[in-house]
Amino acid sequence: MSRSTGTPDAERRRLLKLAALGVVAAPFASSLFAGTAHAQAALPMVDEKDPTAQALGYHCDGSKNAARKDAAAVCDNCMFYTANADKKAGACVLFPGKAVCAKGWCTSYQKKA
Ligand code: SF4
Repeated sequence: MSRSTGTPDAERRRLLKLAALGVVAAPFASSLFAGTAHAQAALPMVDEKDPTAQALGYHCDGSKNAARKDAAAVCDNCMFYTANADKKAGACVLFPGKAVCAKGWCTSYQKKA
């Protein structure tokens, strides 16, 4: 007599397989996250001559931007910024696939809450 899928035994076997996969995959999870951080660190820096950078008045050295009124306002404390592991640069949602300087600034700056 064969059992169809969806029976309690079949469901138990499916759950056991998933649990076994989780045990096998767990040691690699930290490697995956480390790879993500590494990939983020490898992002190319935004060129200040980039049209988007110019439109937003982005400068790697925020102090060079005359429009900046708050000297403490830098990418590092902007809500759109995610720091790299080295804390010198990071990703900005306004510049997908690129990195901005931690001490940079642009006119879209929004202080982190
Ligand atoms: S939006 Fe924020 S993190 Fe992005 S460049 Fe402007 S100030 Fe920096």
